[in-house]
Amino acid sequence: TPEAAQSARALSAELVIDHSVKVARHYNSLQEVGLAARSRSRIFFMRNFNNWLKSILIGEVLEQVRGAGSQQVSVLDLGCGKGGDLLKWRRGGINHLVCADIAAVSVDQCKSRYEDMKKKSYANEKVYSAQFISADCTKVVLSEKLDDQALMFDICSCQFVYHYSFESEQKADMMLRNACERLKPGGFFIGTTPDAFELVKRLEASDSLAFGNEVFNVSFQSKGSYPLFGCQYHFSLEDVVNVPESLVYFPLFEHMAKRYNMRLVLKQRFSEFFEEKVKKEQHLSLMMKMAALEPFPCEEGGRQATDSRGEYCHAKEHCGSSRRPLGTLSKSEWEATSIYLVFVFQKMS
Ligand code: SAM
Repeated sequence: TPEAAQSARALSAELVIDHSVKVARHYNSLQEVGLAARSRSRIFFMRNFNNWLKSILIGEVLEQVRGAGSQQVSVLDLGCGKGGDLLKWRRGGINHLVCADIAAVSVDQCKSRYEDMKKKSYANEKVYSAQFISADCTKVVLSEKLDDQALMFDICSCQFVYHYSFESEQKADMMLRNACERLKPGGFFIGTTPDAFELVKRLEASDSLAFGNEVFNVSFQSKGSYPLFGCQYHFSLEDVVNVPESLVYFPLFEHMAKRYNMRLVLKQRFSEFFEEKVKKEQHLSLMMKMAALEPFPCEEGGRQATDSRGEYCHAKEHCGSSRRPLGTLSKSEWEATSIYLVFVFQKMS
């Protein structure tokens, strides 16, 4: 029938729809839920942990950049999302930030968070300047979109993003080009991405095509053979079915990065990174500080205690006695977060 033909056409259009469009659609449709709702989430501690890890990574790389004598620090946040790292860059005292993401709605939210942050900053505090770009960074040459065509970056930060590009060699290469081509000599490309070896290990150990627990689930179409590009799996967190991601075969990533004169400085599983960093007093105390944010609603009748900016409930002032040790990831959260690795590349010349 004509109706059947039409729905078949619609279905095939959906099947060939570009992977990037699906990614943008997914992230654009995510609601901005605010801190209160975020902290009710079952993965509250996992998000905290990821933020702690990114803070340490960013802080340490900034230290190296400054140590090398860079005065005006410029950063590219590739796949910035809603701007979860804006405050980290402010704490790091950078001078300029370029935020790019495929999801236009997220870029808008990122921009208004930045404007908000500037408004709330203290009179004598200088907040970095910023540019916001909405673009598919696996297809578009970002440098052509820069307001300042001569801009070079000290750091490109690509947090929980790079795996989307491994759908094809062309896309992975364009993302890499965007990350690296405008880096100053000695500049850094830093990021976090799932560890393909860990994913495959867990898949092979599973008696089905999926593994996970009550907070996350990973499912593959098949197992036994894993193409270098476009080896897709679905990752869902907290029952939210996510867009497909692709395995990033790290030795290949490292090899490709060499084309852009990038040398691998660090590759560490989250667990190894954590074990090493937590030994340092200041990193441990940052973790304690971040962990002192208590999930809402607190058990004292669901009232919310807020800090001076009206954002947070502080455990010590409010309901310090009622929780498992703050900052402690549940076993299920740890199983999810321990899939990831952190990487640092440095531009040689
Ligand atoms: N980096 C942010 C953070 O750490 O909070 C956001 C991470 S979120 C898990 C992944 C982000 O990658 C999303 O905002 C998504 O829109 C973005 N992304 C995925 N594919 C992209 C592409 N081809 N170009 C630019 N951004 C992309």
